[in-house]
Amino acid sequence: MLDVIIVGSGPAGYTAAIYAARASLKPLVVAGSVSAGGALMQTTEVENFPGFPEGIMGPDLMENMQAQAQRFGADIRLEDAEELHLEGDVKKVVTDEGEYQARTVIVATGSAHRKLGVPGEDAFAGRGVSYCATCDGFFFKDKPIVVVGGGDSAIEEATFLSRFGSKVTVVHRRDQLRASQAMQQRAFADPKIDFAWHQQVVRIEGDIQVSHVVLRDTQTGQESKLEAAGVFVAIGQDPRTELFAGKLRTDAAGYVLTEPFSQKTNIPGVFVCGDVADPHYQQAITAAASGCRAALDAEHYLLSTERN
Ligand code: NAP
Repeated sequence: MLDVIIVGSGPAGYTAAIYAARASLKPLVVAGSVSAGGALMQTTEVENFPGFPEGIMGPDLMENMQAQAQRFGADIRLEDAEELHLEGDVKKVVTDEGEYQARTVIVATGSAHRKLGVPGEDAFAGRGVSYCATCDGFFFKDKPIVVVGGGDSAIEEATFLSRFGSKVTVVHRRDQLRASQAMQQRAFADPKIDFAWHQQVVRIEGDIQVSHVVLRDTQTGQESKLEAAGVFVAIGQDPRTELFAGKLRTDAAGYVLTEPFSQKTNIPGVFVCGDVADPHYQQAITAAASGCRAALDAEHYLLSTERN
């Protein structure tokens, strides 16, 4: 019987692991077989994580966090959680490789890329449609690229992709970006980045590979074609709740709700941290902070239940 199982391994999960391990709770981290490290494994330079004045590459930051957790005794397993049994004093986590029991579970499952939901998106997945510029950008060297979205992710992807593509067009449904000013300025100054304002992608078309997207003007309804070999969709994230749907209380969008001033969920002994419980900030640093809080809450829970 373990004290703590942490499900997820982004900044939230690893920070929870660092704190739990330093508190001698010997946490087991179900880190994921291909997704260990979370979304930052697919980013380039992280410029806003405190402590790195020159910035740090996302994968390096995550490897550092993992090493820090292991240094204090966290047991990190590259396995996928398949079932969570969260009720009662003994929690059970079933993975693709085994079954673990613990008195507390910290859920840090993060978020997943939101899809456009238009014809051609699934059909051309891996044949032009992508959700990860750092993974797939190289395939579109000297070819026209479209990035869909207007937030930090879209602008970060567009800036990264401009080193590969012949040109990058950011397609946004409004005429104002949601991305931070710093990122916007960098993109506006990049001669290879264009903007298609007030445009929605309504179809992705091609033959074997994507050749173009069909856009609809959100003001006039007029449709037009835009040449594209690569279409990078960066329109936000949805919380990853499939493992505990209907068990943990969430808001209407699926984000796990916590008790005020804590990372406690509606089930005693189950705590949550990171993007899966954060519809608003979704930064590496806020995820890390909530991981710290979740581990401290779990520690207090273990102490208080031992006393009773
Ligand atoms: P986001 O901030 O929610 O932005 C999503 C963008 O996609 C918005 O511009 C939105 O348009 C557009 N959009 C949403 N649904 C759409 C649809 N169906 N069709 C067309 N466009 C659609 O998501 P994000 O950019 O993934 O960022 C998520 C969080 O991560 C944010 O808190 C962000 O600050 C953070 N982040 C930070 C960094 C960094 O600091 N380096 C990097 C990446 C992400 P509207 O603007 O019209 O709503």
